[in-house]
Amino acid sequence: MTTLMVQIDGTTVPLTTCFWVRRTADGCAEGSLHGEYAATPEQAHKEFVPRQRDRDRDQKAGYTHELVTREQWDATVMACLLGKCEHRQATTEDGAAR
Ligand SMILES: [Zn+2]
Repeated sequence: MTTLMVQIDGTTVPLTTCFWVRRTADGCAEGSLHGEYAATPEQAHKEFVPRQRDRDRDQKAGYTHELVTREQWDATVMACLLGKCEHRQATTEDGAAR
């Protein structure tokens, strides 16, 4: 089996070392998949959300599915999945303060 190569931000990397990230409209990562599970954002969306009706709703809500490198994952996804990112802190702080 040949290794599928993908380009992210001008760098060519094997798809197997990448991750698909599902983000809400405000950019908060909600989940991630290993790169080899999908070849396109549409396929990744199907992996995250099997039902067409739910995917239609996601599109309206502004969810995105993006391929990132391991480094980008560490920098932008991990904090979200741990609930420690700036997106969630913004909501929690607002909720706690008022
Ligand atoms: Zn986040």
